[in-house]
Amino acid sequence: MRCHLCKKESDLKNSHIIPEFLFAALYDEKHRFHELHLDTGNKYKQKGFREPLLCGDCEQLLSRYERYASKVLNGGIPLTYRRDGRIIRISGIDYRRFKLFALSTLWRTGVSKMEMFSGVTLGPHEEKLRLMILMENAGDASRYPFIVSPIMHEGDIVEALVVPPTQTRLGHQLAYRFVFGGLAWTYVACSQRPPKEVEDAALSMEGTMSMIPWALSDMRFITSMAQELVKNEVL
Ligand SMILES: [Zn+2]
Repeated sequence: MRCHLCKKESDLKNSHIIPEFLFAALYDEKHRFHELHLDTGNKYKQKGFREPLLCGDCEQLLSRYERYASKVLNGGIPLTYRRDGRIIRISGIDYRRFKLFALSTLWRTGVSKMEMFSGVTLGPHEEKLRLMILMENAGDASRYPFIVSPIMHEGDIVEALVVPPTQTRLGHQLAYRFVFGGLAWTYVACSQRPPKEVEDAALSMEGTMSMIPWALSDMRFITSMAQELVKNEVL
C-alpha cells in the first residue's frame, strides 16, 4: 500500500480522518459519539472515522499538529481573548502549526473514501494541499483560509454535533463547512484571493483569528438536524 501523504510504499495505519480530540467532548460513557446524518438520524459509531491512509512517519507528522491544535482549542497554551461585540478575537496562535493542522483535516476528508466525506471533492487542491502538508509549508494567510465559529444554543456550545461536510459559497468562492466539537469550520478551497471579510476573520500570520458565534437556530443547514437532536434528547 502507498501512503497517501508521502506516496511511499508502507504498511498503512488505520488513520483518523477527523482528529480524535475533536470528538473528546462527544464520547459518552461507552466511548461512542453522536454522529448525525440528514437522512438516517442519530446513530452510534465506535471511535471516530478511520481508514488506512498514512504511514507511521506521516501519522507522526500530523499528530504533532494535532497536539498543538488540541491545546489551542482545549487549553494548555497561553492565548489572549478579546471580545469585540459579538466577535471573539484570539491572539497568540502559532500560525504555521495551527494552519497545517486545519489544512491536514481538510485534505484528509478530501482523500477519504468514506461516505461521510463524499461531499468534499478538492480536485486540483488535493495535490496542492498534500504538498503543503508534506513540506510543512503553511503558505500565507490568503491561501486556503478558514473561519472557526462556535455553535451556541441557549448560551452553551453545542458539542454533541457532528455533521457531514457540505459545500457552500463565500462570496463567489467555493467553500466547505464542517461541524465537529461544537465548532463550525468553513474553508475556502480556491486559488483566488478570498473576500476581504474572510481574510480579516481567518487566522493571520501574526497568530490572530476571529470567531463569530452562531446560534444553532440561525444555521439553516443544520436546523433539520437540530430538530432531530431535540427529538432524540441530545440537546
Ligand atoms: Zn507517509
